[in-house]
Amino acid sequence: MRLILLGPPGAGKGTQAAILMDKYAIPQLSTGDMLRAAIEAGTPMGLAAKEIMDRGDLVSDEIVNGIVAERLDDADCVNGFILDGYPRTIAQAEALGEMLAQKGMGLDAVVEIRVDAEELVARIVNRARETGGARADDNEEVLRNRLQVYLDQTAPLIDYYQRAGLVKSIDGMADIDTVAAAIAAALEG
Ligand code: AMP
Repeated sequence: MRLILLGPPGAGKGTQAAILMDKYAIPQLSTGDMLRAAIEAGTPMGLAAKEIMDRGDLVSDEIVNGIVAERLDDADCVNGFILDGYPRTIAQAEALGEMLAQKGMGLDAVVEIRVDAEELVARIVNRARETGGARADDNEEVLRNRLQVYLDQTAPLIDYYQRAGLVKSIDGMADIDTVAAAIAAALEG
């Protein structure tokens, strides 16, 4: 099963990716996690990415395409994967298409998790409070920028993948189990 999870920040992509990972025994590929690991490790890529991420802007297509291309070569991806937070631009989607074509692979589905933007801001601001604001990109101003970046650069991917007949739209405002069940039904249906 080769999937993309698409949705604005705070829609619950990470949570649903973890559930799918268990269900299908395939890895979750989160470019956000990979970039945060690079920051932790203090690599030049991490250093370059940090400021951009703290503002809620997008890291360059070149950087993320590179880390995904490398990750897709790992042995655990042969049976599939769940892309969480990638692609985020049309250019990334095109690059992914080329990477997969080279491997003779295709996507099975693009799961769009739909949520209400205002509700979302409230959710994430709460999360930041509960975790003591552990993520620098979780304050309200940055969050609003991340949402705007999603609307401008990532939301067009829904149309892009709709043309390929791959999009399954799920109501992401329900509780975690309900959303997980809706995704499972959409993937099996
Ligand atoms: P996430 O954990 O997916 O919300 O990602 C956190 C931050 O990492 C984003 O706000 C971006 O700055 C950066 N990032 C993650 N994935 C990508 C991507 N596919 N393209 C560009 N930037 C990304």
